[in-house]
Amino acid sequence: MKDKIVLGKTIDKWTKDYPLLEDLICTKEVFWTNPKYRKFDEAIKNISLSENHVKDAEERLQRFAPYIEKVFPETKDKQGIIESPIVEIPDMKDYLDAHCETNLLGNLLLKCDSHLAISGSIKARGGIYEVLKHAEDLAIDHSMLSKEDNYAILDSDKFREFFSQYSVAVGSTGNLGLSIGIMSAKLGFKVTVHMSADAKKWKKDLLRSKGVIVVEYESDYSKAVEEGRKQSDANPNSYFVDDENSINLFLGYAVAAYRLKKQLDELGVIVDRDHPLFVYLPCGVGGGPGGVAFGLKLAYKDNVHCFFAEPTHSPCMLIGLMTEEHDQVSVQDFGIDNITAADGLAVGRASGFVGKTLENLLSGDYTIDDDKLYVLLSALADTENIYLEPSALAGVGGIVDLFNTKAGQKYLRDSNLIDKMKNANHIAWATGGSMVPKEEMDKYYEKGIELSRE
Ligand SMILES: *Cc1c(COP(=O)(O)O)cnc(C)c1O
Repeated sequence: MKDKIVLGKTIDKWTKDYPLLEDLICTKEVFWTNPKYRKFDEAIKNISLSENHVKDAEERLQRFAPYIEKVFPETKDKQGIIESPIVEIPDMKDYLDAHCETNLLGNLLLKCDSHLAISGSIKARGGIYEVLKHAEDLAIDHSMLSKEDNYAILDSDKFREFFSQYSVAVGSTGNLGLSIGIMSAKLGFKVTVHMSADAKKWKKDLLRSKGVIVVEYESDYSKAVEEGRKQSDANPNSYFVDDENSINLFLGYAVAAYRLKKQLDELGVIVDRDHPLFVYLPCGVGGGPGGVAFGLKLAYKDNVHCFFAEPTHSPCMLIGLMTEEHDQVSVQDFGIDNITAADGLAVGRASGFVGKTLENLLSGDYTIDDDKLYVLLSALADTENIYLEPSALAGVGGIVDLFNTKAGQKYLRDSNLIDKMKNANHIAWATGGSMVPKEEMDKYYEKGIELSRE
């Protein structure tokens, strides 16, 4: 293994250049802070996306709201806007406090994308947004729709017949497939979801019940994407949702930030120089957490500190950022197996687009063990009666690691935040869970209880 060559260098040399790789290769938990982190005003100069792009996405979602409200009645109370609650989780914070060595300072909140309408995960942001954007582009190009129309007219046989001439395809570990599949099928598109081996059976069954074509692969996410893209590219009327490079997905996710700001204002949560905000985002390929983090940096600049969370067996974004090789390396290159219970995060190669966009904006990235995800899952259920899928718990461990690791403490010192931490707010981004069938969730919960007895 040590002699294996990756991008012209032996693994031995790689670990000499980046000592943290040693722990990553042994699938030990790590907390990495980003040496390329910069002040917002400086960092944003190198990024071609701006607040205007995010506002454009927000307006598009607003145009679609009357349609969404009509075809997904569960969105009625929010007038067709797909948004999740944010809640304080003080009992969970007490639990974490009791189970770690140091004092966890500040207030802990949970952003419940686990309970987003329609598809029950963070993918209900970017995934649905991208399908809507594609539908709007097609309808406007064919002079069937103008931006001034009430988009409720899309709920008609005329539009469904129109969209049925077109196909949408995507490769997915599960949740992106759910979002793209459900939304595309509702509009009338022919839709194919290419599912990786990690994808849960209930997700495939649910999609098939909605008329979605599900193609299964025995290999991982990258293969499902590659095959999906190949098949889609062969058909000129087919649109491939490219999770690894899509700016539209990214912008759909980014909209979350401005809405969150409004929610925090309403809760009286202050974010400023003396009240830092820490956000912990579970990361797979990077689009979801990357888009949200980008939006948060636009909204709060240097007062928000964003950390990604990855399974110890799939630290693709961390390796990509640290080596600055982004999508040119995979976890498998370093002998890491990409096998994890966090199916939404089971990605071996990160998005190069996201890594490069965030390379000066992201504060850091930490890894978390699968067993810990289960323990946190049952603890959150017991303390707050909130049920998440394993992937989503990755963010909940962040506050502990920030205070409990040398690298975390160093980050706070270097950023002059030590005396401000008592005023801090921490948000764990709960990325999925409400659609998990009860029997599955019971098994997760039991597993967590069992592991916490050990
Ligand atoms: C997809 C997903 C993520 C991460 O999103 P990426 O865009 O793949 O980084 C996190 N949690 C859950 C539950 C997901 O489904």
